[in-house]
This record gives sequence, C-alpha cells and structure tokens, in this order.
Amino acid sequence: MRLVPKIGIFEEAKEFHLRIWETPSFLFLVMGTVTIVVMYVTYVFTERFGDPEIIIIGEVLITAIMLILGVLFVNGLSKMVIVNRANYDFLSLAAHQLRTPLTGVKWTLKAFLDGDFGTITPHQFTMLKRGYESNERMILLVADLLHIARIEAQHFSYDFSYEDISSLLDEVVEGLSFEAERKKVLVAFERPDTELPKVRIDKTKIIIVLQNIIDNAIKYNIPNGKVIIRLYPETDGIVISIQDTGIGIPARDHEKIFTRFFRAENVIHTKTTVGSGLGLFLTKNIIDTHGGSIWFESEINKGTSFYIKLPI
Ligand code: ADP
Repeated sequence: MRLVPKIGIFEEAKEFHLRIWETPSFLFLVMGTVTIVVMYVTYVFTERFGDPEIIIIGEVLITAIMLILGVLFVNGLSKMVIVNRANYDFLSLAAHQLRTPLTGVKWTLKAFLDGDFGTITPHQFTMLKRGYESNERMILLVADLLHIARIEAQHFSYDFSYEDISSLLDEVVEGLSFEAERKKVLVAFERPDTELPKVRIDKTKIIIVLQNIIDNAIKYNIPNGKVIIRLYPETDGIVISIQDTGIGIPARDHEKIFTRFFRAENVIHTKTTVGSGLGLFLTKNIIDTHGGSIWFESEINKGTSFYIKLPI
C-alpha cells in the first residue's frame, strides 16, 4: 500500500484533458501552501498589531480564498470522474456494438465452411477459413477490451466458489485444441498423481487467464513445438506451470510484459501472430484480485514458462 500519495500533476492533466491549474493534485498543493503561508502571516500580524479587527478581516479573506480553491478542487475531481465514465461508456458501447455483427459474420462463415450453402473449392475453403480465424481473433479482442473497460471502471465483479483446477485445465485445453492443431503444436496436460485441494476462484475469470496463457504458449511456439502444463501443490496454494518451446521473450522486455498494450519486439515484426497486448495485463489483474501471483522465465528461441500461484 502506498503511504505517501503520488503527485502526478502532468500525468493527471494529460490523461483527463485538464489544464494544469485544474488538476486536483495541483490545487491540493496550492491549498497546502496557502494554509502554511496564511498561518505564518496571521502569527506575524497578531504579534505586530494585536488588533482583533485586522485579524478577523484576515481570517475572512483566507476563508474566501480557501473556499474558491475548494470549489476548483471539486470541479477538477468531477471532470476526472466524467472523463473516466465517458471512457468506460465509449469502450463498453463500442465493444457491445461490435460483438453482434462479429458473431453474425462468424456463423455465416461457419455455414459456408460446413458446406451448408453447397460445395466450395479447396481454395475458397482456405480463404474462408482465414476470414473465420481473423474474425475469431477480433471477437477475443473485443471481449478483452470489454473486460479492461470494466476493470478500469471497477465494474469487474467477482463471484468466488471452490473449484477443481484440473477439470478447468481439461476444459481450456479442449477448447484450444483446434488452434493447437492448426499451429501443429502438441499441448499436454500432465495430471498430478494425487488429488489436489480445490481452490477458491472466480471460475469464468480463471478460464480467461488459462486461455490467455495457453493460447500465447501455442501462438508464440514453433511448428511441432510443445506446451506442457503441470500442477504443483504448495503449503499455501497451487502452482500451475505452462511451459512452451517457443520463440521466448527478449530479456529487455521482461519488465514491461504485464503492461497494457505491450507486445515484445520479436513478435511485432512477425506477420503470423496477431495480438493486442491486453491479455497479460488482464491476466495479472485477475490473479492479483485472487490474492495470487504470476511470474515467468524465458529464454529467447528456447521457450517460456509461465507460473500462476493461486492461494487455497
Ligand atoms: P498478445 O498476445 O495479444 O500480444 P498478451 O498480453 O497476451 O498480448 O502478451 C503480451 C506479449 O507478451 C506478447 O505480445 C508477446 O510478445 C509476449 N508473450 C506472451 N506470452 C508469450 C510466450 N509464451 N512466448 C513468447 N512471448 C510471449
């Protein structure tokens, strides 16, 4: 927990489109300085004149100044709230509006691919499949954007229950089998021999986490590569490890990997992988809310292992 509040006047002004003097941080500093100066001046005046009238006039002036500063302070704060609210409204509206047509495109393309509108040539099949897959990515991106908008507006509610992680992993691995086959990557879940205790999680959120990490392990892998998933019990939690034989994350990008919209240098230039840089940001936020932790080890062109620890 931060004990000393961070004063980011310039960041605040930029993020919320305020002038410097409108930012609550700046006004707060001014109010503090004015209070100190006024106290000193009152002390000097009282010492010199000792005249109650002068002191009262001084006090009235000071109260008026503080009142004006207070009004400006509240104005700045409400502007920040309005901008925040507008950002959330815009993002969630855009994401909701995009979801319906994208789902329409998905089912139309699927009907063509399944041969519901007659036979198609292999070339047409390949092209339609490409369109279908791009559309699927777009659906995931829109879902991520919606989650991020909810996190930032603090509307991302959690519903905890005790769940078996092994069954969740089975579900997620099964759901990604099409993607793994397409990339020619073998995904193996090495189930532990003993039964593990259930963990208290929000099932839908942890599914998003596992999908993100395993999908990345497939996406950033090499043809005929592997993804191995393991579970380890610890005294205070369960660790899930997802190890891949992929392209790795350059050392200089390690510390930025969980930040919003960040994509490492070695993937930006590859045309084969598309991504938004939102998945790990979202993942970390979900794991933090569970009181867990996430970390990774990676070596360029050798592979990456992600670890997620969930408390029991
Ligand atoms: P996205 O995959 O949409 O770009 P993420 O937030 O999921 O966004 O990941 C951020 C970045 O982290 C990726 O763009 C990639 O550079 C790197 N990354 C994540 N997982 C792996 C992995 N298993 N192997 C190599 N790079 C990875």
